[in-house]
Order: sequence, then structure tokens, then C-alpha cells
Amino acid sequence: MNNIYFTEEHNLFRQSLKDFLQKEVVPNINNWEKSGVIDKSIWTKLGEMGFLGINYPETYGGLGLDFFYTVILLEELQKINSGGFAAAVWAHVYLAMTHLNAEASETIKEKYLSASIAGEKIGCLCITEPFGGSDVAGMRTTAVKDGNVYVINGSKTFITNGVYSDYLIVAAKTTPELGNKGISIFLIDRETPGVSATKLDKLGWRASDTGEIAFDNVKIPVENLMGEENKGFSYIMQHFASERLIMGINAHARAEFALEYALEYMKERKAFGKSINQFQALRHKIADLYTEMEFCKTFNYAVANQLNKGEYAVKEATMSKLKSTKMADEVMYECLQFLGGYGYMEEYPMARLLRDSRLGPIGGGTSEILREILSKIIIDNKSYKPAT
Ligand SMILES: Cc1cc2nc3c(=O)[nH]c(=O)nc-3n(C[C@H](O)[C@H](O)[C@H](O)COP(=O)(O)OP(=O)(O)OC[C@H]3O[C@@H](n4cnc5c(N)ncnc54)[C@H](O)[C@@H]3O)c2cc1C
Repeated sequence: MNNIYFTEEHNLFRQSLKDFLQKEVVPNINNWEKSGVIDKSIWTKLGEMGFLGINYPETYGGLGLDFFYTVILLEELQKINSGGFAAAVWAHVYLAMTHLNAEASETIKEKYLSASIAGEKIGCLCITEPFGGSDVAGMRTTAVKDGNVYVINGSKTFITNGVYSDYLIVAAKTTPELGNKGISIFLIDRETPGVSATKLDKLGWRASDTGEIAFDNVKIPVENLMGEENKGFSYIMQHFASERLIMGINAHARAEFALEYALEYMKERKAFGKSINQFQALRHKIADLYTEMEFCKTFNYAVANQLNKGEYAVKEATMSKLKSTKMADEVMYECLQFLGGYGYMEEYPMARLLRDSRLGPIGGGTSEILREILSKIIIDNKSYKPAT
């Protein structure tokens, strides 16, 4: 089934990525999870291998490869059991850099996109605010034009790579009275006076620096406006489709990893004189969970194929995240149960997997918001179009 999408080149790429992660990342994961800080040097190593530029133009040092290479990157990042490290990478490559590539001017791209692909500059995407999460249009951060600068004031929260990144892609209101039609997107260099960040403590994704960010009279050149003024909301919505599929793919991959781990464990663990994988109650549970996971994976590959062909698959990407993140949470809960008390111990992978997975139905659009979007598409025949 998977051969429909993955060629021999894809498989070779997967193997070299796996080898890289085992050698350069896995030995450090526990430290990064404990300290909440990822070693900076890993970024340039990822860059040198081309992993940060898979889908970006060769002009900026990217590889210009199809979307299934991205699928492989996302899947393998989930299979080393650090949702936080994976998030740091995909938030840089698929949140911040997606906006850079699509909306930034040539000058900004030369300075920031090339360096992002090389792993020399790391980005974050700042949309969520303390008073505006699901309600993106309710954001309060403003950008006021004053001669040849914009002056930014406001705050953002829950930002992945929010503390240690080098630049910030920030949504702010340029025309507040227009609501969601008055939002624009800017690039702010971390070194700009008036930018400050605080690290947040959280349930999972512990290797990732989730930050709260304040902008106090931050002056940036007008050239740092990305795309057109007041078009920010449509840019955000446009990229949400791929972000949601990404989170769906992450979910099926970590569920597959958890199931494979649990299966190995159940083969070895004995109770009442036999391997626990011989108890019908557990066997049937595995059968159900595996079926759910495979359904999500197959669906997600089909949606990836749509994106690969340039289709704007908002409905399907929304369904992907809604269903896959729920499935992954169920898989984590049950797999932890299969391990009994060991499932609850940090020495075994399930505790971290359970914590990390819980963000799936929250980040990048909660399941409730996704159901709202799907209801509008299915019941009200609303159609979403890409930004022009
Ligand atoms: C670890 C982490 C990393 C994140 N990374 C980023 C990032 O890099 N960049 C970024 O911009 N954001 C990021 N986020 C923010 C994330 O996208 C938001 O948390 C999410 O969109 C929800 O917003 P909120 O937290 O303000 O919840 P709220 O909007 O306050 O929602 C609270 C509850 O109300 C429900 N609700 C709200 N409106 C409705 C409605 N209309 N109908 C039914 N129910 C509703 C929600 O579903 C939720 O259950 C991150 C969050 C976390 C926790």
C-alpha cells in the first residue's frame, strides 16, 4: 500500500535520516528533555544533512523535494520519542519557514530563509495571545506604521521555539477596526530592542522551549512586513491546512511507534505463566487500536498526496488532525495500560509519549474548533480558498 507513495529514493532518505537521528539526537534526548534546552549545534548538523530544506527551493539551499519526504521527516522525528524535539524542528521548518518562503521579500529570504535551511537561524511563529487563542481575530498586538518603521506592541503566548529562536514571525493588527481583515505578518529579529521572552513550564514537549513573548515599542523596518498589509489572516488560514496535516501525520507516527513498542513488551512480559500478548482482552484491544492507526495513516497519506499535487485540502487536513490526534491519545492511554506499572515509570517510553501526545487535540486549532470548521464545510457548504 505504502509503495504507492514511497519510491526507492524515499526509502533511502528514510534510512539515512534514521541513522542520523540515532547517532546525533537519540543519545542526547534524555538530557534535552530534562533541561528543556536543545543543544544549538544540532541545528547546523540537521542543516548540513539537508533535513531543514527538504521542501524549499534550491536557490536558498533547499532540496526542492516532494511532500512525501516531509512525511518521512515527520514520522521519523516521532519515532525517537521526544515530542518536544520534534516540535522544535517542525515548528521551525513548517510554521516559521512556511511563511518566510511564501510571503517574505527576496531580501528577507536571502537573509533568513537561506540561514534557516542551513540551521544557522531558527524561527518561531507567533499567533496565539493570552487573550486570543482559538479566536485568532481577537488578537490585541498592534503594528503602527511610523515613517519607515512599524512599532509593535503586545504579547504572544505558548510559542514553540519562543525563547531560543533567532527570529519571530509575528501576526499583529495593522488596522484593528477591520477585525480579522486588519491583521498583517512581520518578521522580527530576536535582537531588536523591546523583545523579551519567558519560558513556560508544561506537561509535555519538555525538550521544547515554549515561550511567552512581550513586544514593548519594538521598531522594525517597513521592509519586514511579509506579503501585503492586512492580508495576514488569509496567510495564516492558508498555511493552517498543511499545519493540520502535519499534526495528523505526527499523531499516526507516534501511535505506530507506541504500538510497536507495546507489542514487543507484551511478547516478553509474562503473567499467569504466559506472555501477556496471549490474553484475549489485550489481543482484541491491539487489533482495534492497530486498525484505527492504519486507517489514519492511510487517510493521511492520501491527504499528503493531495497537498503534493498542489490541492488546497482544508477539509481533509482538518479531518486528519481531528481524527488522528484523538486516535493517538487513545493509543497512548491503552499502551501505557499494557505496560502496567512500568508504563507509569519514566524509565519506559510510555509516560513521555502520553504527555507529549496530549497536545495533539489542542495545538494548531483545538478539536472543538476543527469540528466548527468541518460543520461549516459539511453543513453550510462553506468553501475555503487559498490567499491570492
Ligand atoms: C505546547 C504548546 C505549543 C504551542 N505552539 C504554538 C506556536 O508555536 N505558535 C502559536 O501561535 N501558538 C502555539 N500554541 C497555541 C495553541 O495553538 C493554542 O493553545 C490553541 O489554538 C488554543 O488556544 P487557547 O489555548 O487560547 O484556548 P482557548 O481558545 O481559550 O480555548 C479554551 C477551550 O475553549 C474551547 N473553545 C474556544 N472557542 C470555541 C468555540 N467557538 N466552540 C467550542 N469550543 C471552543 C477550546 O476548544 C478549548 O477547549 C501552542 C500551545 C501549546 C500548549
